[in-house]
Amino acid sequence: MDIDSIRSQFPILSQNVYGKPLVYFDNAATTQKPQCVIDSLCRYYTTLNSNIHRGAHYLAAQATDEYEQTRQLVQKFINARHSHEIVFTRGTTESINLVASSFGERFVGKGDEIIVSAMEHHSNIVPWQLVCERKGARLRIIPFSDEGVLDLEALETLFNERTRIVAVNHVSNTLGTVNPIGEIIQMSHKHNVPVLIDGAQAISHRQVDVQALGCDFYCFSGHKMYGPMGVGIMYGREELLEQLPPYQGGGEMIKDVTFERTTYNELPFKFEAGTPSVGDVIGLHSAIGFMQQIGIDRIATYEKELTDYATEQMHTIDSLRIFGTAPEKTSVISFLIGNAHPYDTGTLLDKLGIAVRTGHHCTQPIMDRFGIPGTVRASFAIYNTPAEIDILIAAIKKIAPILL
Ligand code: PLP
Repeated sequence: MDIDSIRSQFPILSQNVYGKPLVYFDNAATTQKPQCVIDSLCRYYTTLNSNIHRGAHYLAAQATDEYEQTRQLVQKFINARHSHEIVFTRGTTESINLVASSFGERFVGKGDEIIVSAMEHHSNIVPWQLVCERKGARLRIIPFSDEGVLDLEALETLFNERTRIVAVNHVSNTLGTVNPIGEIIQMSHKHNVPVLIDGAQAISHRQVDVQALGCDFYCFSGHKMYGPMGVGIMYGREELLEQLPPYQGGGEMIKDVTFERTTYNELPFKFEAGTPSVGDVIGLHSAIGFMQQIGIDRIATYEKELTDYATEQMHTIDSLRIFGTAPEKTSVISFLIGNAHPYDTGTLLDKLGIAVRTGHHCTQPIMDRFGIPGTVRASFAIYNTPAEIDILIAAIKKIAPILL
């Protein structure tokens, strides 16, 4: 694979920070955008900008067309049965809040239970806690091992007649674990319990086929898959979406409004109240095109090589501990140097031009599980190189004596 040519499509990567070439290893937080996505946003605002669906004029028709084409592309990308099962949101957070709120309203009652795992992002914990507070329900938690592997035997014991939904991530943003969601879905369905998958950290690293998986909801963000910020996806199975009440009220989600009674629009518009981020949705089309041109399996293979190399190199540093050593991982490595505070490590690396993330990564229960304040997280994408990993390793070796 010609990584130089892929890198050259990302203008942001060619800059220096603090006089050093930028090494961008914060891809789990957000990926950088290729020129085709930047051009697409620019083209939208230069030639297409218009509100969609309602306009009788040329621009509105064109913008609507491209917006709906993106829906169809997303449908194919994740192999959904229908394009109306694809709902545009602002991101994973909004997608999960949508499901938690609407599903919670319709299906969760006093004394009911919702299962999440101990390695969820706060976005897949707090929306469910809000439902529990509103409805008098409670959360049940799937534990994980020291390696960062979910305990499926423990999950089996959590099901009972009060279980209403299971919500788990496909990939942990902190540990990098690829969770056995196929098995979790099968187990849950055996108990007649639907499953929401938080796919924020999987969608740019793995082929996702929602029909093969059989999941009921699958949520992800455009900005973590080389697309713009401001657009996300909530995939839901038609039969379930039909039963859920709207999340927000407003324009576009209605069929008829009178002061006595309002009827709601059909799917997916029932869940898309107000003006969406049209330009960002259209930009997402280019981002998916970018990924498809390389091929998701080739992306996964290359990122695994990078991750294996970085892990191997890190093992040569005595004071470095890695958190998250599951057999199946994506390109996320969380680590600590001795007992140094992650923020200090991150700050020193930053001054050497290396962008990593530090802190709890919105997964405080994981930090509690390990009894640490946070980690330093390096996460790789298709444009990263082994040479950049060498820079990181050299930098860690240089700063370790200062930190210890
Ligand atoms: N879930 C996981 C696993 C994540 O990593 C993130 C973001 O880091 C989110 C949810 C929230 O995504 P967003 O901030 O794009 O809504």
